[in-house]
Amino acid sequence: METILILVHTESDGALAKTAREALHAAATLYKSLPGSELVVGLIGENVQAAADSIAACPAARYFGVAGADFTPARYATDAAAAAAVCLAAKATVVIAPATARWARVLPGVAQRLGGRADTHVTGVAAADGKISVSRWYYRQRMEGVLTRTQRPWVIGIDPGSQTACECGPGVARVEMVTVNLADAARRTTVIGLREPPADAQTIRPDAQLLFVTGAGWTKKQADGQTHVPEAANLILGFLKQSRASLGSSKSLVDLSGEGQAVLPFLSHLNQIGQTGATPRHAKGLSTCCHGEEPHTVGWRFIGERRAVSLDPNCGWARGKADVLYVADAFAVMAKVNELLAANP
Ligand SMILES: Cc1cc2nc3c(=O)[nH]c(=O)nc-3n(C[C@H](O)[C@H](O)[C@H](O)COP(=O)(O)OP(=O)(O)OC[C@H]3O[C@@H](n4cnc5c(N)ncnc54)[C@H](O)[C@@H]3O)c2cc1C
Repeated sequence: METILILVHTESDGALAKTAREALHAAATLYKSLPGSELVVGLIGENVQAAADSIAACPAARYFGVAGADFTPARYATDAAAAAAVCLAAKATVVIAPATARWARVLPGVAQRLGGRADTHVTGVAAADGKISVSRWYYRQRMEGVLTRTQRPWVIGIDPGSQTACECGPGVARVEMVTVNLADAARRTTVIGLREPPADAQTIRPDAQLLFVTGAGWTKKQADGQTHVPEAANLILGFLKQSRASLGSSKSLVDLSGEGQAVLPFLSHLNQIGQTGATPRHAKGLSTCCHGEEPHTVGWRFIGERRAVSLDPNCGWARGKADVLYVADAFAVMAKVNELLAANP
């Protein structure tokens, strides 16, 4: 019999993030398709009762918690000790956890401590004929693999954004608190604060409906023989401000800064989409001034509906990569789009 543990950490306000509910959805779906299995919840954070209560209507049989000031910050030593203690208390054979920045660096170590195995970047969990399988993508999202394991405990990190978030409602959960005996060395690292870019400099928005991608064309000489980089910056930032889209880029555009050319200062390599960049998940994507080369468009794997604006009717987008290609001047198109958005906020 499998004991499926959904392992989550609370946020700074004591609540559960959407990523935790996504992993819970995967765990609950697995539990329902695996007769004889048991679903249990493990929570770690400063206080865990409110978080447990917020999902009390889920089909979990038991709740385990590790709480206290030692478990407030993301810190490998305390997080790994707490996670291992919860896994042992729950006698978990399968551990499903959201691959948040905090958990992703801890989960493989927890599997190692427990003599189990870990799989990362999992985008699907299923059971058939009593056998559990997980799926994940390989070779920069070009191939999907499905694998099973006999080793237990099996620690599974669920990629954020790959599941729908469970909507199980609140109630009253009885949390069994687990004591973790921490060595002094586990408290050696202290978190003294968080540094974040100002809100308007934060252009990467994983929860946005739309991914807006800029290509090198924005910095190229246009029909008048001149470049128009400041105008491009205004159009792009104007669109982002009104649409709240997430900003992506081609490699060529983010690389330009390294080549001493005029660039868009709000773009960094973190915005790069593609084979050597990110593979974000958004319902829609709009590419502008970008050619649509394969190493770029492989990063569009998880974009629902793809549209592109390019001057080149023979670009990669036209060759089957986009659902809709507008052969048009992106400067003119985005100026008109911004005007329409301003008129219909
Ligand atoms: C190993 C390897 C890994 C790579 N990894 C990545 C990766 O992760 N991500 C990535 O993006 N690339 C990657 N590349 C590079 C990739 O192959 C392309 O070179 C790159 O994506 C091209 O960027 P671009 O389309 O912005 O620029 P360009 O190819 O220069 O295209 C610019 C486009 O803008 C259009 N344009 C110009 N002006 C306008 C206008 N006014 N209106 C509309 N359109 C206009 C032009 O018609 C042209 O199609 C990789 C390459 C290799 C070899």
